[in-house]
Amino acid sequence: MPSQKRIYIALLGITVAILGAVVFLAWYLFLNNGSLFNQIVLVLMGSLILMGLGVVGFGVVVLVITLWSHKSFPSLQNLIYTATNLLFPVALQLGKMVGIDADKIKSSFIAVNNQLVDNRDIQVVASQVMILAPHCLQNADCPHKITIDVNNCRRCGKCPIDDLHDIKERYGVHFVVATGGTLARRFVKEIRPRAVVAIACERDLTSGVQDVNPLPVIGVLNIRPQGPCYNTRVNLDQVEDAIRQFTNRRRSVFTNNQQLTET
Ligand code: SF4
Repeated sequence: MPSQKRIYIALLGITVAILGAVVFLAWYLFLNNGSLFNQIVLVLMGSLILMGLGVVGFGVVVLVITLWSHKSFPSLQNLIYTATNLLFPVALQLGKMVGIDADKIKSSFIAVNNQLVDNRDIQVVASQVMILAPHCLQNADCPHKITIDVNNCRRCGKCPIDDLHDIKERYGVHFVVATGGTLARRFVKEIRPRAVVAIACERDLTSGVQDVNPLPVIGVLNIRPQGPCYNTRVNLDQVEDAIRQFTNRRRSVFTNNQQLTET
């Protein structure tokens, strides 16, 4: 398993262990200080919480097996996504506490998500795929309002929006540009894609993937040579590879460190 994914998986495992230990300790302490009735209530509550944690922990174990084996377990898919999404905020805080950069954890989450989507072998026609790009890819000096209608782009070639138009035409996929989560969700509602190739920064990708779950999303991190949210770029090979992954199953998985890895 590439190290990029290991960060998130390790944080998930530690999170489950810590939560389990905290619940068990609190349960133990309360059990030894109270009336018989209180103790019965606590036993029931503690059992329920530990059972919930056990289910989530099992989800994490299945996730690890899925990532290692490159196989999908459709019947356990909801459990895996619930476990990863539920534990994500705690894992993020835990990572920050031990000094791991938040973007690194989010990037790891996206890598895990991309692998899970790849394992599912989703096959759709190109017209059911939507490229969702952020507004910051547009050249900052461009006067054309492409978030209302991406076809307002004059195709001058000064920013990646032109290249993405080219990809849209070659593959026959949808292409939209959104300024934020609200507009992105509106596009998903209107176009009703069955698969999404989303380009964004770590923060927007992690929230976007969770927002539209269970819709499969392959996340492509944008490149920020001039800092965040300004004249950003994208690795077009990764975008095309994600489209092909959804449409003709050429087996490839990319990591978010700008490398393509054939499998
Ligand atoms: S390619 Fe389109 S969006 Fe980019 S600067 Fe030119 S007209 Fe504007």
